[in-house]
Amino acid sequence: MNLILLGPPGVGKGTQAKLLIDRFGIPQISTGDILRAAVKDLTPMGVKAKGFMDSGALVPDEVVIGIVEERLAQADCVPGFVLDGFPRTVGQADALKGVLSRMGRGIDHVVSLSVDQKELLTRLTGRRACAKCGAVYHVEFAPSKVSGVCDACSGELYQREDDKEATILNRLKVYDEQTAPLISYYQECGLLRSVDGLGTVDGVQSAILSQIQG
Ligand code: AMP
Repeated sequence: MNLILLGPPGVGKGTQAKLLIDRFGIPQISTGDILRAAVKDLTPMGVKAKGFMDSGALVPDEVVIGIVEERLAQADCVPGFVLDGFPRTVGQADALKGVLSRMGRGIDHVVSLSVDQKELLTRLTGRRACAKCGAVYHVEFAPSKVSGVCDACSGELYQREDDKEATILNRLKVYDEQTAPLISYYQECGLLRSVDGLGTVDGVQSAILSQIQG
């Protein structure tokens, strides 16, 4: 099963990807997670990406296309993959098509998740992540048992630099301008499966499954 999860920041792509990888035994490829790890490790790519990420801009296409091409060539992607946060531009979508066709592969479904902007802002401003294991919480909807401390590993919870309100507004603008055109791009390819992202995590997961297994 080769899947793309498409949608604005905060719509729940990461949460849904984690359930899909458990169900299908395939890896999640999150370009955001890979870039954040590179920033943390101070790799040359991380140093280059940090400024773009902190301001809510997109990292240049050639950087993220390189990341995904390398990741897709790894053995665990043979049974399938869930792309989360990639592609984000038409250039990336075209490049992905080329990479997959050289591998004799293709995309099975593009799941497009949507919720309104007010809900996205509430979800993103309340989001907290564990500095140690990456687990994600929400101060209101999914709080940790002890405030500021990860339930899973006791790591410290922090707010992502790009989850602060001014940056969020820029990320949503960037999404509308550069990523939303992919909805019609994949609709024209007959791959688009639209799912309402509002509701419980399990409810949204069921709606996704009925679209892709339907
Ligand atoms: P995310 O965790 O998916 O919201 O990504 C966090 C940030 O990483 C984005 O705001 C971008 O700066 C960068 N990023 C992640 N994926 C991509 C991509 N496919 N293209 C360009 N930049 C990306």
